[in-house]
Amino acid sequence: MTDFLETIRNELESIHAVGVYKDERILLSPQQARIRTKHGEVLNFCANNYLGLANHPEILEAARNALDQYGYGMSSVRFICGTQDVHKQLEKSVAKFLGMEDAILYSSCFDANGGLFETLLTEQDAVISDRLNHASIIDGVRLCKVSRFRYNHADMNHLETQLKRAQKNRFRMIATDGVFSMDGDVAPIKEICELAKRYQAIVMVDDSHATGFFGATGRGSIEYQDALGEVQIITSTFGKALGGASGGFTAASHELVSLLRQRSRPYLFSNSLSPVIAATTLKAIELIAHSPDLIRKLQDNTLFFRKEIEEAGFDIRPGSHPIIPIMLGEEHLAKTMADKLLAEGVYVIGFSHPVVPRGQARIRVQISAVHEREDIDQAVAAFQKIGRELGVIT
Ligand SMILES: *Cc1c(COP(=O)(O)O)cnc(C)c1O
Repeated sequence: MTDFLETIRNELESIHAVGVYKDERILLSPQQARIRTKHGEVLNFCANNYLGLANHPEILEAARNALDQYGYGMSSVRFICGTQDVHKQLEKSVAKFLGMEDAILYSSCFDANGGLFETLLTEQDAVISDRLNHASIIDGVRLCKVSRFRYNHADMNHLETQLKRAQKNRFRMIATDGVFSMDGDVAPIKEICELAKRYQAIVMVDDSHATGFFGATGRGSIEYQDALGEVQIITSTFGKALGGASGGFTAASHELVSLLRQRSRPYLFSNSLSPVIAATTLKAIELIAHSPDLIRKLQDNTLFFRKEIEEAGFDIRPGSHPIIPIMLGEEHLAKTMADKLLAEGVYVIGFSHPVVPRGQARIRVQISAVHEREDIDQAVAAFQKIGRELGVIT
């Protein structure tokens, strides 16, 4: 035990030494545009609370009502006594919203991805995965015995090469994030689907950073790329735009979802989603489907911030996603700038190597529908002040 703990202490020290030790910042308020911390109130530009549903009055009301109607916890897996009508309703609603035949709930999208590949594919098959895919896709693929191919990020020539290499396999599945969280860039899903048709592959998209708010009506990156109906498997989370509590799902054909219910390990061996979350997520989808103003406000805020920050002279990754990376280059600059912005009351996060490639350090801003114009004005002004101070802009 002494040696063991010593090894762990050394490991922790080396994490500190290279400057990537992650502290948790304690919030003293609910998740919203202005959050209270020990250091006072700050404007929050780093949550995945894209639509502001995490603390939306109608969402809170739905959650309170759900507690009274369904109780708090299920204390069971789905197939023993952990399924209420609200779980089935949510599965139907998710499937309908995305134009898929069926959907299955998980405790998280991490679990949805963890229980996907191993259930559907064997050593005869191949997964062809974007090099920058989320950790949960990587881990999900690791759990199964498929042949693994990777293609360079969003590189369709490389994907085609890998599809050719995988032609001897029984089935081929292309796996990609819909939106990549470090750049806010959208996978070329239309082109992926065309290649998939040409080389007989199944397409799986994890749309966690898009479901509910991205694309004209919130159907995600698949809608944004005009590929609705062409993707066979969609996984995503309720833990970001759809209320932000927790939970995830896989949406696909009836038979695929049925097999997941029989064999997918995180579904069979992990507790059922709390009914409060199921009912409240149902409400979130209803809000999104019936009132386009939340999505519109998020889009307006995003366009406005992108325009203002570019006009201020900052270098941002182009696009229209509410993830907006402000490119700084040097490693130390991202952290220094984020610290100084926090002192100005603007909470953003700096990312540097190894999370992003060396020399591409950045601050990632995330816009929400709960931001008001004056919040964005205040953030841009703070960026200008600190940007000048640090010589990022002139
Ligand atoms: C956030 C995220 C996940 C994890 O979702 P959880 O429901 O929090 O487990 C999975 N995939 C992608 C692409 C994500 O961005």
